[in-house]
Amino acid sequence: MKYKRILLKLSGEALMGDRQYGIDPKRLAEYAHEIKQIHDKGVEIAIVIGGGNIFRGVSGASNGMDRVQGDYMGMLATVINGMALQGALEDAGMQTRLQTALKIEAIAEPYIKRRAVRHLEKGRIVIFGAGTGNPYFTTDTAAVLRGVEVHADVILKGTRVDGIYTADPEKDANATKYDTLTFEDVLQKGLNVMDTTAFTLSQENELPIIVFDMNKAGNLVKVCEGDTVGTTVSV
Ligand code: UDP
Repeated sequence: MKYKRILLKLSGEALMGDRQYGIDPKRLAEYAHEIKQIHDKGVEIAIVIGGGNIFRGVSGASNGMDRVQGDYMGMLATVINGMALQGALEDAGMQTRLQTALKIEAIAEPYIKRRAVRHLEKGRIVIFGAGTGNPYFTTDTAAVLRGVEVHADVILKGTRVDGIYTADPEKDANATKYDTLTFEDVLQKGLNVMDTTAFTLSQENELPIIVFDMNKAGNLVKVCEGDTVGTTVSV
């Protein structure tokens, strides 16, 4: 395998499957199946999951809610998703630990970097919940932050599009996909990979990002084997 330790970022929306809201158990089981394939090949797996399928602080704020209050609600949404994913991974026979940036001791360990690394070394899948634990951040930033902290080899951003395009492929039929880009290219071309905070953190730490279609069966294992799947952003 090309990558020994990965940080997989899954958006909350991805968990909805065909639904408009919440969590689709079928999608969870599919993801668990994909993750099992790389787990069986010895890849150490850390996961950050979003919360957009349940709550986003920005949407709360646009309806008059206090932004900080909304962001904490968003962080709790990521914990709910993390628990759902944890259940699905364990049903598929993997050992897991959920660590949260906000303390919720009855259901998760508090985030402790050294402990997280130890779990990874023992082959446990570590899910990081509650984002960074701070309002005004995103789970993409949490993914890069945790990836840097646990010395992941790469950030794998699993989305529903198969990489980074010259334009939005869902809106522009002439859009073409990039196989590789440098961090500089992304900035110069004004492409949208992650929010600026997450992207800058990744660039400064020279941690590559691969954007790929997580909904296509077999893609995750191909990415970990080093096949040209999705778009790789690196120095
Ligand atoms: N959030 C936050 N701080 C963090 C991570 C997340 O405040 O470090 C909140 C924020 O309100 C965000 C919500 O949690 O809108 C859900 O996360 P995100 O939108 O990143 O999820 P995704 O789009 O990946 O589903």
